Amino acid sequence: MNVRALITGGSRGIGAAIADALAAQGHPIVLNYRENHAAAQAVKARIEAAGGEVSLLPFDVADRAGSGRALASVLEDPRPLGILVNNAGLVRDAAFPALEPEDWDLVTRTTLDGFYNVTRPLVMHMVHHKWGRIINISSVSGVTGMRGQVNYSAAKAGLIGATKALAQELAKRNITVNAVAPGLIETDMIAGVPLDHALPLIPMKRLGQPQEVAAVVAFLASRAASYVTGQVIGVNGGLI
Ligand code: NDP
Repeated sequence: MNVRALITGGSRGIGAAIADALAAQGHPIVLNYRENHAAAQAVKARIEAAGGEVSLLPFDVADRAGSGRALASVLEDPRPLGILVNNAGLVRDAAFPALEPEDWDLVTRTTLDGFYNVTRPLVMHMVHHKWGRIINISSVSGVTGMRGQVNYSAAKAGLIGATKALAQELAKRNITVNAVAPGLIETDMIAGVPLDHALPLIPMKRLGQPQEVAAVVAFLASRAASYVTGQVIGVNGGLI
């Protein structure tokens, strides 16, 4: 039996492409998002039309109590949930002197608290089933740091630290924990990025597509990736 896969932030962009890819591997999908019901419904309809299974699970990953309640309902289904992709994220960019407290809080809470709020309730479930794949979507900003993104770079670097530490804790439980660090990927998130500045810095001279990130996530989620853990895989067109 194929294990179920939970993807946070699955209504759009990279998360939606990951849902497509894991559904194509035969995994029933639990699709989290925050508020964009129409987009999530469209992903569900697309996957179901291709023969897959999707249940929608809207909640704010930054809300600890709400995340806990939603995940408890997911675990009522007797089928194992073996794959977790922590993908939900957002940016609130500003030069550091102009970085408002609420923008520091929103970005770090969504990425770092979100990781904790969603992962911790599922870990013992994976331990019980003796198999798991946890994949955290970090960023090139978390690897190199990015000006104008002190909040986002800190959160995404923190996610890498969490990935490496948790990988060590869970390695002998047959649960792998890895991070994927995309470069510039063509989604709503980068709609405001001035490409005339950014594209020359990318050796491939183009943006990445969500499907190119999803393909790496699908590999890490597969049984073929059984000896890969604690790693950060860049998907960035050669940017670093
Ligand atoms: P999008 O802005 O296209 O989509 C973001 C998704 O996250 C949406 O599904 C959104 O839900 C969801 N989301 C945001 N906040 C929350 C929350 N608090 N709780 C639950 N869901 C939430 O982003 P991308 O697809 O571009 O990014 C996906 C991930 O990849 C992010 O972690 C991002 O930081 C990372 N990344 C992206 C890069 C890029 O160039 N695009 C580069 C490097 C990393 P809703 O639709 O309801 O708003």
